[in-house]
Amino acid sequence: MTSGQNDSGVLAGDERMLIDGELQYTASGATFDVIHPASEQVAGQATDGTVEDMERAVGAARRAFDETDWSRDLEFRYHCLTQLAAALDRNKEHLRRVLITEVGCPITVSGSQIESPIAEVTHWAEHGKNFEYLVDTGVHDTPMGPARRMIHHEPIGVVGAITPWNVPFYLNIAETVPALMAGNTVVLKPAQLTPWSGSEYGRIVTEETDIPAGVFNVVVSNANEVGAALSADSRVDMITFTGSTATGRAILASGAPTVKKTLLELGGKSAHIVLDDADFNAALPLAAMMACVMSGQSCILPSRILLPRSRYDEGLELLKTSMENFPVGDPWTPGNMQGPQISEGQRKKVLGLITSGVDSGARLITGGGIPRDLPVGYYVQPTLLADVDPDSQISQEEIFGPVLTVTPYDTDDDAIAIANNSIYGLSGEVSSGDVDRAMGVAKRMRTGNVTINGKSHFGITSPFGGTKQSGLGRRNGDEGYREYLEGKTIGLPA
Ligand code: NAD
Repeated sequence: MTSGQNDSGVLAGDERMLIDGELQYTASGATFDVIHPASEQVAGQATDGTVEDMERAVGAARRAFDETDWSRDLEFRYHCLTQLAAALDRNKEHLRRVLITEVGCPITVSGSQIESPIAEVTHWAEHGKNFEYLVDTGVHDTPMGPARRMIHHEPIGVVGAITPWNVPFYLNIAETVPALMAGNTVVLKPAQLTPWSGSEYGRIVTEETDIPAGVFNVVVSNANEVGAALSADSRVDMITFTGSTATGRAILASGAPTVKKTLLELGGKSAHIVLDDADFNAALPLAAMMACVMSGQSCILPSRILLPRSRYDEGLELLKTSMENFPVGDPWTPGNMQGPQISEGQRKKVLGLITSGVDSGARLITGGGIPRDLPVGYYVQPTLLADVDPDSQISQEEIFGPVLTVTPYDTDDDAIAIANNSIYGLSGEVSSGDVDRAMGVAKRMRTGNVTINGKSHFGITSPFGGTKQSGLGRRNGDEGYREYLEGKTIGLPA
């Protein structure tokens, strides 16, 4: 293990992965580099796990599920997850620095990626403790006479959790903690660009909690085939995945032969319908901020702004001013709210999509390139494109950068049709001076979640997920907990 550190706050995470209760390197000793996106420098290494490592981890999780009483001992699970919440809290400044090092997330906005998920561990421990696992549904008539029926909510078994790089610590927690509390065993496969948010989680579990060997495993790897091996393994009962729609499709296909339960949280291309009676001064600076915080690397970002033609220029001006004044820079400097993109590859993709937008007739209002004062680090200027054709590539593809596209519309019906013109259906937003009118529009948006007048739909107590090609199933809320359980109906004498 290395734990490098320099003056800017950069901190390398644990290089090892956790398999069957042991922090370890892959047998060959191979590692891969982890780059700090703000300096473009190698910040450290992570072990490069293989398909064989994944197979051992799945074997350990299978044994822990089948041969220990983890799945049946609710009190013990509550004890372990309460310990985990305290342990993560003790490590939180360390975790924050590791997160900023591998993601480049600004320190000023890191709370939602550190404090929030730690609080969620406590939430799930309490939710799981109070959940009604055995439900008496009463006496039912049957041809053989009356029968009482009970539903026993049981863990599914071995859960494979595969996470992306954009909010890695949060998603590692969101995918695994409810699964563990519900009595499953877990193998986590973090994203290649963010191995340490996973390896540090594994280290803390094994060093600071009583979670038994095999119950929680983390396989770190630079190869997609290792995630693919997890999703295809017949010993895995469920895959919980957050990432791109393309990978989601591959996971769904590889789970088909074993009819694996699959929970998918995928990409998005959300629209924000700004109605003609909206408070533009409240709605549009907030929309610009949401586009730039996290460098636009957010699945739920309403990146397509739909403005009424009657107030189009006014709306563009407000967005332009907000984006041009947005604090972009070194993530370690307090006050900066937008850091770099996570990698050179992502930056190229974002800049390429901006170019494709301009080529297809969009008008570049501001941004569009690399900030002149930030030559080092994978930064992109906050970018605003107007007159965007709803069928163009930049309107249809997820950008994952600090970019807003603006399209004018004439009537509410037009706006709804443009918003729904997408393979995605993750979230959306409506702004209006009339909440009833906004509700009417929100109900017609084909998405899993909608925000009205900036009031967020997102949080641990409410179900979250996508429609169409944005996913299957829900996280958060009681619905999110139930995803990790199966109901067994038991008939018994009345
Ligand atoms: P990605 O799909 O490229 O990778 C996600 C994970 O899948 C990584 O761990 C990767 O190693 C693994 N993987 C890749 N190929 C695989 C395969 N064939 N089988 C199994 N696993 C495989 O996504 P990304 O680029 O890391 O993340 C960005 C994407 O995540 C965006 O599309 C974004 O919208 C989405 N996302 C969605 C949500 C949500 O809640 N809906 C949240 C965050 C991010």
